[in-house]
Amino acid sequence: MEELFVEKFGGASVNTASAVRNVVSILKSESKKRVVVVSAMGKTTNSLERIINLWHKERLVNEKEYDDLLAYHYGIVEGLFEDEALMKDCKELVQSIVDESLAKMLTINPNDYDFLYDSLVSYGERISTSIISAYMTSIHYPHKHVFAQDLIKTDNCFRNSKVLWNRTEESIKQNLNPLLSEFDTVLTQGFIGATKEGYTTTLGREGSDFSAAILAYCLNAKSMTIWKDVAGLMNADPKRMSDTCLLEQVPYKEAMELSYYGASIIHPKTIKPLENKSIPLFVKSFNDPKLKGSAITDCDILTPIVPNYIFKDNQTLLSIYPKDFSFIAEDNISTIFGVLSKFGIKVNMMQNSALSFSVCFDQNDNALSEIIELLQQSYAVKYNNSLKLVTIRHYQENSIENAIDKERYNILIEQKSRITLQCLVEDKTYPCEQIS
Ligand code: ASP
Ligand code: MG
Repeated sequence: MEELFVEKFGGASVNTASAVRNVVSILKSESKKRVVVVSAMGKTTNSLERIINLWHKERLVNEKEYDDLLAYHYGIVEGLFEDEALMKDCKELVQSIVDESLAKMLTINPNDYDFLYDSLVSYGERISTSIISAYMTSIHYPHKHVFAQDLIKTDNCFRNSKVLWNRTEESIKQNLNPLLSEFDTVLTQGFIGATKEGYTTTLGREGSDFSAAILAYCLNAKSMTIWKDVAGLMNADPKRMSDTCLLEQVPYKEAMELSYYGASIIHPKTIKPLENKSIPLFVKSFNDPKLKGSAITDCDILTPIVPNYIFKDNQTLLSIYPKDFSFIAEDNISTIFGVLSKFGIKVNMMQNSALSFSVCFDQNDNALSEIIELLQQSYAVKYNNSLKLVTIRHYQENSIENAIDKERYNILIEQKSRITLQCLVEDKTYPCEQIS
């Protein structure tokens, strides 16, 4: 088959009518065979989450949120269509999708949260691609719109489903390849898939990058591009640090490390399938498509080789001490990890001494009280909340000073390997040690 490209546009790239026009003009500027993966528009997923949560907790329909959701999408439709009749048709289409989602919600047991969540949250992507497809049709941009549920097949672990790769390859062969031989552009949704029974599943928040990587892998794409509102991968979040620079060439392994430590620019599961087939991943700016952006490939070294800063706020440090002053040994550690894994806690940093074991993880107040309750049966437990974890890959001598104002922050734990330095810090203005 002809060379094929996968391009992913996130919520921020389609959050207004002019943003949608911009996406389509990027596509029109280069003719090639491509699968275009799009997320829900703007903050739609958050708004759907509020609808789902109210139904789950109180069995109430969030009328206000539904009205806002509809008004937001109508606003985009109004900005896209000049022809009144087409605009009306597209609004009716949006209305029918929203009505369908409401009708569906009323049939789902509110207690079945994960199932409810996936069935409904996926409507954000459905509305988004439906509007974009209608707009493409109105400007005679040839394309085919296909549902991701017909392509990406998953297990039934709702809200965090695992991809069934063989089945997915099979359905792509059946449902996507024939379309690709007929159309240069196929448009689909990110984030969603379906079980073999046809129930909608999702791949986890921000999962559209991963959807695009799954498609790129199964289609043996020539490359995949993620279009963002930034110039590419930067060595730090420009909102946190003033002197940032673009990472031009990033080895797959480095990108995986960066996303593991919390660099939020790419969904962590995205890289592996691309690496397996050496498919390059480009991260480019939809505001400035001519810029080169970043290339994540099987290159050997990061270029330029500069310190990379990753900040994670709202960290909890939990320190655990055997009550009988016995030493911390393997059996204690395995009990502790058993408790953490029961609550799905991902450990971001850990440190042990003879008499204590400390773990740092994303603050999760509900889980924390239950974890403490369980651990207190055998241990004394202390914790601090609201900490900040700073990870510096390829650190240099002055890297910590660049990242942390020592007047303001106390360093609670500092760990170094040859490449990575991690610091867990506490804001001196809000010290909040709690002893339980
Ligand atoms: N719309 C989904 C979310 O906001 C998926 C994505 O954007 O990647 O999490
Ligand atoms: Mg999104």
